[in-house]
Amino acid sequence: MQVQTRKTDASLEFMLEKTVAFHGHLCPGTVIGTRMALVGMREIDITDPKGSQKKDMLVYVETDRCPVDAISIVTGCRISRKNLKFLDWGKVAATFVNLKTGKAMRIICPDSTRELVDNYVNGEYSNDKDGRNAREVAAYKVMPDKELFVIHKVKVDIPKFDKEKYKVICEKCGETVNGNKEVVIGEKIMCKSCGEGKSYYHAG
Ligand SMILES: [Zn+2]
Ligand SMILES: [Zn+2]
Repeated sequence: MQVQTRKTDASLEFMLEKTVAFHGHLCPGTVIGTRMALVGMREIDITDPKGSQKKDMLVYVETDRCPVDAISIVTGCRISRKNLKFLDWGKVAATFVNLKTGKAMRIICPDSTRELVDNYVNGEYSNDKDGRNAREVAAYKVMPDKELFVIHKVKVDIPKFDKEKYKVICEKCGETVNGNKEVVIGEKIMCKSCGEGKSYYHAG
């Protein structure tokens, strides 16, 4: 079946308007995230992410900064939909997976792209933070994909999307763990907080 896509959905300016509305400001990270998502979807043959291919995509995002908002808005993937997996790795990178074909592409925006900004901006920008941001925004909008990103084909073990309601009780703290998120340490079934020994909280 031929997938009809509204042309505007894939245009950078159209998507930027939407991502900026959600994110709250136009910044270099928004432009990078928006372009990363558009390139990622193109690379894995997703043209209708919010329609006929709604269930065909999974994204792993490796940053908690501005690009994650843009990637979520452009792709329609969300943590709550289980199709956006967040990894707190501090990298401006994301992997886009086509669940139907298994095709997966990891896209990283290396630090070195910043050094290329001057090649793509004309005109005057002030030397304060706003000026520097505006310069980067202008450059990242037009920089060719190959200079902005490094793109690799990768293989991803696709996680199970369980519809069944599955839960266990942690044998240490007694709290309920939903959706196969428990760990087994020795013979004990535990929540990740108890089992992995690196909880973000301690008894107060
Ligand atoms: Zn931002
Ligand atoms: Zn526990």
